[in-house]
Amino acid sequence: MSLLPIRLFPDPVLRVRCSEVTEFDESLRKLAGDMIETMHAAPGVGLAAPQVGVEKRLAVVDLSVGDDRSQVHVLVNPRVVRREGLVTEVEGCLSIPGINDKVDRPERVTVRAVDLEGKPLEIEGEGWLARALCHEIDHLDGVLFIDHLRGLRRERVRRQLRKLAAEYEDVRAGVGA
Ligand code: ZN
Repeated sequence: MSLLPIRLFPDPVLRVRCSEVTEFDESLRKLAGDMIETMHAAPGVGLAAPQVGVEKRLAVVDLSVGDDRSQVHVLVNPRVVRREGLVTEVEGCLSIPGINDKVDRPERVTVRAVDLEGKPLEIEGEGWLARALCHEIDHLDGVLFIDHLRGLRRERVRRQLRKLAAEYEDVRAGVGA
C-alpha cells in the first residue's frame, strides 16, 4: 500500500460529480487500501476518492483512526436513504486545512452502498458516524462542508478560503515551499 497525496481546496477535482464504480477489480481494492492508509496517516476519520484525485464514488470512514479494525467502512456507490434529527457540531476537512466550523447534519442516517466485491451493504450511523458518512458522501457530489455554512459562519471562512486559494495558485506557479 502507499500514501496518496491529498488534494487541497480549491483543486477543481473537489468539485466534480464522481461517476459510479462499475468494475470491482484489483485496482479498486488497491485504491481503497491506499485511501485507508492515507486517511490514517493524515490523520483523519474519512476520505473520499476525489480527495486523492480519483473521480469515482468511493469513500472510506474510520472514526477510530486506525485503532479498531471493525470501525473501518469502505463504501462504494453510497447513498443516504434515511435521515433523522439534526445536530450542529464543528467539522473540518483534510482538503481544507485550518478551517473548522459548525455544520448542521442529521443525527442518524441509514446509508446503502456496496462493498469492494459489489455486494450490497447497509450502515446505520449516529452522531459522529452519521456526520462522517454525510461529509464523505457529499464529496462524491463535489460538495464541501463549507458549502453548508450560512450567514456569519460563511463570512468568517471566506477570508481563510481566499488565503488557501492564493497558496494553491502559488504552489501551482512553483512559488514558495
Ligand atoms: Zn472532507
